[in-house]
Amino acid sequence: MRETMAVEAIENGTVIDHIPAGQGLNILSRIQVRNSQARVTVGLNLRSGGNGTKDIIKVEGWLFSEFDAAEMALYAPNATVNIIEDYQVRKKFPIGLPAEFTGIFDCPNSNCISHTEPVATRFYVREQVRPIQLTCHFCERSFTDSLFTRNG
Ligand SMILES: [Zn+2]
Repeated sequence: MRETMAVEAIENGTVIDHIPAGQGLNILSRIQVRNSQARVTVGLNLRSGGNGTKDIIKVEGWLFSEFDAAEMALYAPNATVNIIEDYQVRKKFPIGLPAEFTGIFDCPNSNCISHTEPVATRFYVREQVRPIQLTCHFCERSFTDSLFTRNG
């Protein structure tokens, strides 16, 4: 399948492309948390040039902001977000990896005060390469990304 065909298939919305194969469902669950009504098309294990396989997600009628994308950065920092308007790619940006995540993930440490205090969870990104390490602002423990992906 040609990549451009996949992108052109929706009139207005968002295409998240070049998601590492296997991470598409994690991304999907974040989208559904934000917008349970979204009309979503998911392609898993699609061929991706010479780089093996990828997942791709198309969301119709919903335009992601860079803020939305940041929430999915842990799963696919190298994925590309295409904002589609009137069948055209209006904006294209990598999801990227922010310096920190606030209020998105629960701390895997069950003794962390973030579970009992009325605070937003906060994690600092330790490594820019996989496995990504996140350090909790509150208990100062570090966790690899697999601990976070488990709960979607
Ligand atoms: Zn913690």
